[in-house]
Amino acid sequence: MCRPGQSNRGDASPFPLPFSKATAIRGLVAASLLTALLSLACAHAEPTAPPAPNPDGDIIYEPGNMPVILLAPHDGTLIPDGSPLRPTNAGRDVNTSKLARELAEALEYRDATGAKRRPYVVINQLHRKVMEPNRSWEDNLDSEWLNDDGGKAGGPVPRATRAFEDYHACADHAVKEVQAAFGTGFLVDLHGLGSSRSADMYGYLLRPSHLADPKDHDAATSDDALAEAIRQRSTLKTAAARKGDAAAAIAGLVRGPESLASLMNAALEANREAPRPAVPSAQFPNPKASSTPDHDQIYFNGAYDIAAHSSYRVGTAVDAVQIETLATARNTEKQRQVFAEAMAEALRNFLELHYGLDIRGK
Ligand SMILES: [Zn+2]
Repeated sequence: MCRPGQSNRGDASPFPLPFSKATAIRGLVAASLLTALLSLACAHAEPTAPPAPNPDGDIIYEPGNMPVILLAPHDGTLIPDGSPLRPTNAGRDVNTSKLARELAEALEYRDATGAKRRPYVVINQLHRKVMEPNRSWEDNLDSEWLNDDGGKAGGPVPRATRAFEDYHACADHAVKEVQAAFGTGFLVDLHGLGSSRSADMYGYLLRPSHLADPKDHDAATSDDALAEAIRQRSTLKTAAARKGDAAAAIAGLVRGPESLASLMNAALEANREAPRPAVPSAQFPNPKASSTPDHDQIYFNGAYDIAAHSSYRVGTAVDAVQIETLATARNTEKQRQVFAEAMAEALRNFLELHYGLDIRGK
């Protein structure tokens, strides 16, 4: 299991504080000092010790100390001997674990004290036919499991069960640490699209009907309607809450120039790299509009990973996105580097604009 290990953060109480003033004043001073100390503690937070590795080594967990968490659930290749398989046509999301690592490296920075800051990374190494992290365990069990001779099997091997639990325990641990240290943060669930696709897809658990009129696919929904959907049922509830009643600003989180996909393209442009068509974005706000690439194919709006580990759940303040990348983001080392550098810059801007979080360093 992904056990929290020994924390260097939050264990040391900021009290007792030495005061010699009157009790009434002391309370106020203590409150403001506590605030200052807490923000200091956040600014200088050390990473917690790595969790105990799971016994089979199927899940990689790299602890972090900045408010960003990267998941790569679908790039696994390991198939334990004799493991029954889920008969799925879905293949590996090739090179997304490398992409997660390169994005982590691009996000790395030194803070004002010179300490290195890195995002959290969780990678599943089991093949998704052995264990599907991005569906609930009930959905995993409901699959029709087959032995390698094609005969029906009872279900996943215990190692797959352990890996599923470890993967989600690690993601949960990272989210809780980020939330405790920074108040909020952002989780990126990295995936890969098949070769028939021509646009990246950003999923926040919003349905196409939240972005476009189901009766007229070329008509975008109103900002008010989209803002309400984002507030009620998306993985961006924290960012939305920070914008109060500003419906246009909330809708802009997913389809404005300050949406993650649009900031990604701005960063690519600044780096003199080719733009990446992306849905939803300011350019293609509406997945089903006739002018949107792949409008006649399914829009992937995210699944279990971001539902389980984001503000979609009551009590979690970390927001999230599922990014489905075209192969042009990850086939070659050069492509991964271009994508990672631009996405790191997009995330720095997105976190600053919508959460007031600084992950830029000096
Ligand atoms: Zn995937």
